[in-house]
Amino acid sequence: MLKFTIKTEDKHSKARLGEITTFNGKITTPCFVPVATYGAVRTLDPEELKEIRVEAVLANTYHLFERPGADLVKECGGIHKFMNWNGPMLTDSGGFQVFSLGKGIEHGVGKIGFFPGLSVSKIKRISDNKNRFGNVKVAEEGVTFRSYLNGKVYEFTPEFSIKIQEKLGADLIFAFDECTSPLDSYNYTKLSMERTHRWAKRCIEAKTREDQGLFGIIQGGRYKRLRIKSTKFISSLPFFGIGIGGALGRTKREMRNVLLWVSENIDRNKPAHLLGIGQPEDVLLGVEYGMDLFDCVFPTRLARHGVILTKNGKVNLLNSKYKRDFSNLAEHCKCKVCKRFSKAYLHHLFKSKEILAHRLATYHNLYFMVEFINEIREAIKLGRFLEYKRDFLRNYKTRSPKYDSF
Ligand SMILES: [Zn+2]
Repeated sequence: MLKFTIKTEDKHSKARLGEITTFNGKITTPCFVPVATYGAVRTLDPEELKEIRVEAVLANTYHLFERPGADLVKECGGIHKFMNWNGPMLTDSGGFQVFSLGKGIEHGVGKIGFFPGLSVSKIKRISDNKNRFGNVKVAEEGVTFRSYLNGKVYEFTPEFSIKIQEKLGADLIFAFDECTSPLDSYNYTKLSMERTHRWAKRCIEAKTREDQGLFGIIQGGRYKRLRIKSTKFISSLPFFGIGIGGALGRTKREMRNVLLWVSENIDRNKPAHLLGIGQPEDVLLGVEYGMDLFDCVFPTRLARHGVILTKNGKVNLLNSKYKRDFSNLAEHCKCKVCKRFSKAYLHHLFKSKEILAHRLATYHNLYFMVEFINEIREAIKLGRFLEYKRDFLRNYKTRSPKYDSF
């Protein structure tokens, strides 16, 4: 049976502890969900994910649709069986990939836009009201775009996205939405949000499987009126859970505002998933505002670039100062990589482009995220989440400004 139970609520913030029950096991929330784009968390075996105590993984619908195809996955018995992962799974709707193919490339931005040095006038200039950008055309029916893999033109509609996700068979699935860019104007964001709302209803109607929990997605960009409207609308529909999507603002301050508006208007009885967010400082902010699930390529992608996460911040192992540093990989980390290998050894493996470097760093970074989330859960349980957040941020060095200064 699919259900979400809230176990403990923090008195000083909107943080809470909960549990999502799926047909393939439970997810304790808050939870960080690693991304398995093509049905694999890059470089790791599902057995290792279990060893790290990863509870759930998220695969990308668009990628699996292109390769190997949803029918093939269905023929095998679904995505769990195909990749031999017996825990809860999530699939996104494909909307974000469509965004990345089009506007993400054209605007040169990611999901959250932080643009140091980019003037407001420039932002205005590149903002637009078009329904066509790059290889992607958005219409009421759905989105047409050209594949970067084979040049074929595809059309993704809300019904099609649900159909593919039903064939893939993840436990938690997402409604098809248009992910707007942080550079989109108010008018475009409004038009797109209203269309996403109509798509949300179509996704509910298209869904046939009872064993999958469908998440609706809140849009509205960085605009207060739109975010509140979208939050109320998506909360009013019979979704199992709610995703917070789209551009979360151009700065961390704007992101905090978006979370505040959402948290004050969302249906708190449903699990909330902050889509595409995974930096520790952002996860803390999300938890503070009642977010339950997070997914992001950040820890695994960083690992492949030679950067490991520690309580003091990120460590770039490629830096020559680690050439003769025979100390353990990360101080205080109890993972099997840190117990057995030194910074100097990983520095050498990265320099020599050994695949083992990617595996070891990925293992450690995911272990770090799991431990981090466990500490957050423990802090909520003890009623000291905000103190934990403050202490963590005091040690964790980031280049972006600390939230507490706002
Ligand atoms: Zn470690």
